Amino acid sequence: MEFFDIAETWDRKKIEETQLTRLRTTVERCMNAPFYAERLNKAGINASSLKSLDDLKRIPFTTKGDLRSQYPYGLVTVPHAELVRLHASSGTTGSPVAVHYTQEDLNAWADLMARCLHCAGIRKTDVFQNIAGYGLFTGGLGIHAGAERLGCLTIPSGTGNTARQIKFLQDFNVTAVHIIPSYAMYLAGKVEEAGLEPRELPVRKAVIGAEPHTEEIRKKIEYMLGVDAYNSYGLSEMNGPGVAFECTHKNGMHVWEDAYIVEIIDPDTLEHVPDGEVGELVLTTLTRRGMPILRYRTRDLTRIIPEPCPCGRVHCRIDRMMGRSDDMFIIKGCNVYPMQIEQVLMSYPEVEKNYLITLETVNDVDEIRVQVEINDQIFVEDMRALTALQKNMARQLSNEILVTPKIDLVQRNSLPVSEGKAVRVVDKRKKFKTN
Ligand code: AMP
Ligand code: ZN
Repeated sequence: MEFFDIAETWDRKKIEETQLTRLRTTVERCMNAPFYAERLNKAGINASSLKSLDDLKRIPFTTKGDLRSQYPYGLVTVPHAELVRLHASSGTTGSPVAVHYTQEDLNAWADLMARCLHCAGIRKTDVFQNIAGYGLFTGGLGIHAGAERLGCLTIPSGTGNTARQIKFLQDFNVTAVHIIPSYAMYLAGKVEEAGLEPRELPVRKAVIGAEPHTEEIRKKIEYMLGVDAYNSYGLSEMNGPGVAFECTHKNGMHVWEDAYIVEIIDPDTLEHVPDGEVGELVLTTLTRRGMPILRYRTRDLTRIIPEPCPCGRVHCRIDRMMGRSDDMFIIKGCNVYPMQIEQVLMSYPEVEKNYLITLETVNDVDEIRVQVEINDQIFVEDMRALTALQKNMARQLSNEILVTPKIDLVQRNSLPVSEGKAVRVVDKRKKFKTN
């Protein structure tokens, strides 16, 4: 079989030896960040005290809260002059999470990304259209660099302007795309509306990721567009895309264990769960220089697939993401916590305490609807006042979560009240339905 990187051929022994060496280097580097130095010293850990990979368990976890507390530069471990890029993740009120890269980090990331695309059967002869946001979101520049590194003619078409996307797919004879699943469904619909048969487009391979989706949705995308679709997983904190990717067998995503250490924990007890059982994915970077991260709690729920992959690579496979151990949801590529919405709503004196967030698919587009109870006094105001309030709320929320919601102002006590824990988010999106 053809491999992009020699590391893909490593056996378990070679992987684990490399991991231990790189973990020691990573711990050593982390000592340059006062946050980590203090934590590691407190736990009595230094590079030479790590005798085996089992010692990883002695290292404290890192959480999103830690990363936010160290914003903007707290976790940088190299002189600032060595930094050449930063990305930031959406989905946080106040300080976001900033991730810093040196040139070596960017090179290593591009190599990993190229390895992913190659492992899904994409080759330098492919024309690759990257239908993803270029900007702070890592799916744009990250996947782009990988496709170029592989040698594909790479089209940075970004998001939106669906008519132009379709034109490019046709005109440049595009054979591979990167696209988020919900947009893939929408695009297929638009191709049909334009009087074309989506399956007749030249595209043969689609990389889909950045948001949770079911196996049924993958099959639907494959059928509608006449492509093979491969699941791609990543998160800004770990570079972005390129952390885990499906090979041509499409049965779980290989995590590149020469670059990341994988653990699956029970989110309540924080203990490891046996291979095959679902838990929270915890990742440690092994090659990052600018901003290494130890035992990062991703909050994504998955499991290790214990059976060997028929492709022969022994880098472990994880199953598609099965949910989150927190309440974050992803809509139109933006990570959103219900608490961000609540904070904005509660800043309005007109708002009562109850609200409901509904995620739905309208004409193949995912939308977010927020129903808000407002007080009686306002409710009897004239239509103009209500419309102004509605618009203002939509704008404030859009500033906060980067997606513009539809706002319904409703009368006090008109929304359902749940006994026990309030249900704040109802997800009716098509991509989570199986038929
Ligand atoms: P961001 O850092 O903004 O790119 O968001 C990363 C988050 O997106 C991850 O922690 C996951 O929750 C989600 N995500 C990324 N890729 C996938 C995927 N293939 N399947 C499910 N969720 C994903
Ligand atoms: Zn495989």
